[in-house]
Amino acid sequence: MTKTNPIVHGLMMDVPLTIPSLLTFAARYHSETEIVSCTSDLGRFRYNYAKAQRRAGRLSNALRRLGIKRGDRVGTFAFNDHRHFELYFAIPALGAIVHTINPRIGAEALSYIVKHADDKLIFVDPSLLATLHGAIPDFPLERLVILTGDRTLAGQYPGILIYEDLLLNESEDFALVDIEEREASGLCYTSGTTGMPKGALYSHRSTVLVAMAACAAGAMAISGAETVLPVVPMFHVNAWGVVHASAMAGAKLVLPGANLSASALTPLMDDEAVTISVGVPTVWRDLLIHLDETGRKPRVLSRLVMGGSNPPSEMIDGFELRHGISILHGWGMTEIGGTGSIGTAHHGSSQLADADKRKLKLKQGHALWGSDLRLIDDAGKEVPADNTSSGHLMIRGPWVVGGYFGNDDNSSFENGWFRTGDVARIDADGFLEITDRAKDVIKSGGEWISSLAIEAVAREHPAVADAAVIGIPDPKWQERPLLIVVPRERHTVVQDELLDFVGARLPKWWRPEGVVFSDTLPRNANGKVLKTALRDQYVI
Ligand code: ADP
Repeated sequence: MTKTNPIVHGLMMDVPLTIPSLLTFAARYHSETEIVSCTSDLGRFRYNYAKAQRRAGRLSNALRRLGIKRGDRVGTFAFNDHRHFELYFAIPALGAIVHTINPRIGAEALSYIVKHADDKLIFVDPSLLATLHGAIPDFPLERLVILTGDRTLAGQYPGILIYEDLLLNESEDFALVDIEEREASGLCYTSGTTGMPKGALYSHRSTVLVAMAACAAGAMAISGAETVLPVVPMFHVNAWGVVHASAMAGAKLVLPGANLSASALTPLMDDEAVTISVGVPTVWRDLLIHLDETGRKPRVLSRLVMGGSNPPSEMIDGFELRHGISILHGWGMTEIGGTGSIGTAHHGSSQLADADKRKLKLKQGHALWGSDLRLIDDAGKEVPADNTSSGHLMIRGPWVVGGYFGNDDNSSFENGWFRTGDVARIDADGFLEITDRAKDVIKSGGEWISSLAIEAVAREHPAVADAAVIGIPDPKWQERPLLIVVPRERHTVVQDELLDFVGARLPKWWRPEGVVFSDTLPRNANGKVLKTALRDQYVI
């Protein structure tokens, strides 16, 4: 029997949660608030939400003229700048889907996803045009739009479109269609370290909810008083929702363009009075070195959000203790359209001793409303949240994918939960500790050894710049850990000293079998260490 709601009259309005409404709101109530954008043709360009909406309106009309319809995928191959921002709103205004493409994924994956997504148009940064065209030489040039006003490249690529020319004669009124909140709005592929990339299809509703969650005080607390610098790329999980959140909050938005070096970011942070910035630990590592060298922090920068991989404790302490910049450590993934957990304080956190507060920072934070977490064992049985037992991390919520786009593989979806592929522990307060990717966990004597925990300890050694741990086959124990270390410049360390250092800080049986030294670690397009490549290299 279907349940009927006895109250059929007098309910709240059914106003859909849509992406264009975020920009319309910002343009109306935060019209003068600035968006600053670093571009190759205009240098550091600035305008405001009202002007951005008018240009996004022109763009939506141009897209319609080019034949873009509801449900069509439109690719972007671009950095964080104001034109990418305009695409973020103009494409969904038509009911079409922003397909953000990671420029670092390599030609084979690139050509696969453009074909799989069936992109009708692709908007490309001038500096990335040769890479894109090289990977998909058959994609018609008249379906490519260069994100510039500069016509220099047009001569080399006959028929190609120029972004600013497209906007010239269009009306500023948004070419809006009546959008339902459950319609698709965005598409982002995983970086596909195993197998081909898989598409996560975001909806208007999930994107608005992610933005709202990012604004919450218990998450990133993005308000109209903030100046937000998303260093995490707009092609990576919608920049974790902070671009949409900035429009929702009417925050000043600073878009850094292609140059993410510390020497480019620090003056930008200073000049534009950035208060909060968001990115992966690899980028923040360079920033910390720069701040240590110059001895001064950007003047009003108060918070850095980091996620994507686990930052070393030395990095968190460096920012917080030496430079007075708070670190918010979070966890998420492509399949979770934004944040899955974040390390803000809990009610009891203020009572903790300083050392415990510092330890808590290393965890990936706690669930937010909207991301329900649980652990299961190999047999699918629930594992207790006791801070000790580890299990496969499952998540469900309104911004978690329910399947993959154009893909029948449902093996990650079980009884309404998504299997993240991460192995984790959860404590009684819901704080999450990612211990491994399931495929990287080291199975030794029937127990699991956390490669991330060994890496974190190894990185505490003064001579270690970076570390990775993989499992190597062992006749007795099945697998044993091998530590791969990138030594810090001008430091030397010998294997036994390092093993003693690591061994003393971990359960006895986690002590790695050996150490190999290497100049670098192989990384994927999102900066994550490629353990598959390390296994190919070191497992004989
Ligand atoms: P990919 O496309 O490679 O899946 P994602 O950015 O979606 O790229 O990667 C998500 C994965 O990154 C997570 O499943 C987890 O393993 C790892 N990850 C994300 N944030 C953290 C973090 N704070 N600490 C440790 N690992 C993290």
